[in-house]
Amino acid sequence: MSTTVTKDQAVECSIVIPVYNEEANIQLMIPQLKAALDALGKSYEVIFVDDGSSDRTNELLTDAGQKYPEIKLITLRRNFGQTAAMSAGFDAAVGHVIIPMDGDLQNDPNDIPRLLEKIDEGYDVVSGWRKDRQDKYWSRRLPSNLANRLISVITDVHLHDYGCTLKAYRREVLQSIELYGEMHRFIPALASLIGVKVTEIPVNHRARTYGKSKYNISRTVRVILDLIVVKFLLSYSTRPIQIFGLLGLTSMLGACGLFFGVIYAKLRYDAMISNNSLFMLAAILLVLGCQFIGMGLLGEVIVRTYHEAQGKPTYVIARTLNLRPGYCPGKAHLL
Ligand code: UDP
Ligand code: MG
Repeated sequence: MSTTVTKDQAVECSIVIPVYNEEANIQLMIPQLKAALDALGKSYEVIFVDDGSSDRTNELLTDAGQKYPEIKLITLRRNFGQTAAMSAGFDAAVGHVIIPMDGDLQNDPNDIPRLLEKIDEGYDVVSGWRKDRQDKYWSRRLPSNLANRLISVITDVHLHDYGCTLKAYRREVLQSIELYGEMHRFIPALASLIGVKVTEIPVNHRARTYGKSKYNISRTVRVILDLIVVKFLLSYSTRPIQIFGLLGLTSMLGACGLFFGVIYAKLRYDAMISNNSLFMLAAILLVLGCQFIGMGLLGEVIVRTYHEAQGKPTYVIARTLNLRPGYCPGKAHLL
């Protein structure tokens, strides 16, 4: 997300709601949202992103947008998935604070004021925690609990509920993050790369009454795969040789040890080398070690291309004082 917003376009908060075949929920949701947001006394916009719905979702949202100008609609050409839809909403949002939520009434709009309060206290990311989650145990709550623990340990950003869509972000935080795959649940972790203050508050969660969930248990596998990517980005994205090089050297060291062992066995006990499985293993480890180091070096080249092509510095500045006029590291990544 890298949009610039002029002062007269800006609003205080943007709600971003991806929807995919949620016709039965839309009609109920709009009055609930409006009531909660009007009561805030802040300027706001609600951006619905229709992620290729084939039911009456789009029609209903178009009607709502014609009635209320603060309701905006982006219609995607096909179903791109929740993360991509959310990204489309973030790119269009002009709020100082951006709040994504689900379009199936499972999140409660009445939690929005509490999220905003925390942002006003100085936090950059406020994450909702579905403390009393109303989903099935075996297919949802259990895998999600395990995934949450794992994500917490691996990313070092400690939250109870990464998967809760209802979160609040200061605009600048989202501005420095690009979302791929199913990454929306990792935004707080990715945001930690730029240095943010994160907190969480318990939020209300309601059972899905209308329409069907768009996911099944296979999501857990995708989350784990994304977690590997996030861990790599968090720890090694600017120095891939550190991880691949280490693997390569360890592998080569193992190969050397085995080679010596095999030669020693040959000299001492006249053991065969040609059909010795340890000799084969040593040869494999040696090749593997070279491959790892090669991968690390390629990674180093790619990282340089990534940062330099986009003018992205490898650091993020919070503020500056008395620097030369026009000083700008890379492309405006000033927070
Ligand atoms: N959604 C979407 N595109 C998709 C799948 C889901 O925009 O491909 C939306 C969906 O309409 C809902 C939100 O993402 O507003 C969360 O989806 P769902 O309720 O199915 O997820 P769950 O609550 O079961 O985790
Ligand atoms: Mg849901």
